[in-house]
Amino acid sequence: MGDFITVSRQEIVDNKWERVLNFFRQRSLWMLYYCTGCGAVELPPTMTSRFDMERFGIGPMATPRQADILLITGYVSAKTLKRIVRSYEQMPDPKYVVGFGSCPVNGGIYWDSYATINYLDKYIPVDLSLTGCMPRPQAVLDGLLTLIQMIDKGEAVGHKKYQLNYEWYKKNQREVLERTAPVLDTGGLK
Ligand code: SF4
Repeated sequence: MGDFITVSRQEIVDNKWERVLNFFRQRSLWMLYYCTGCGAVELPPTMTSRFDMERFGIGPMATPRQADILLITGYVSAKTLKRIVRSYEQMPDPKYVVGFGSCPVNGGIYWDSYATINYLDKYIPVDLSLTGCMPRPQAVLDGLLTLIQMIDKGEAVGHKKYQLNYEWYKKNQREVLERTAPVLDTGGLK
């Protein structure tokens, strides 16, 4: 397997169609309504009247096939990783991943747990990480506005990294999924 291939923002800035598309993309973002960990509790206040994220063109979406943003709202258990990867791969390109709190960045307070993964970035590309344990609605809204700016400037390129380094991500995912396989073995029961 070759080295990890990075994506240059310049490639996107040089492509005028990509710039036009990004201008429209950043104004209409659907966020997959799927949550892991404690940070999910901060989403209702971010969506409802006090912070009202819909005024920025961001709304919840029930299915991955119509969603643009995947929020990872906290720690990720090894078993949940399989669902996260499946949801991420069902989302159409371009797609963006936002990690909440320290758990997706380095494991956080669960760094030595046998049941969680420590570095989400090893398994799917994370475009933006929000600090805080857990980030408050102000931080969530600020992060989503930062993501909008990143899309506009062509900096949210995680989905391209995933395409270019697909085998690298798959190898990392397999290591975790094979480790949890005996736990998921139902002994033939459906
Ligand atoms: S960062 Fe804090 S709030 Fe977020 S999942 Fe981890 S322990 Fe929970």
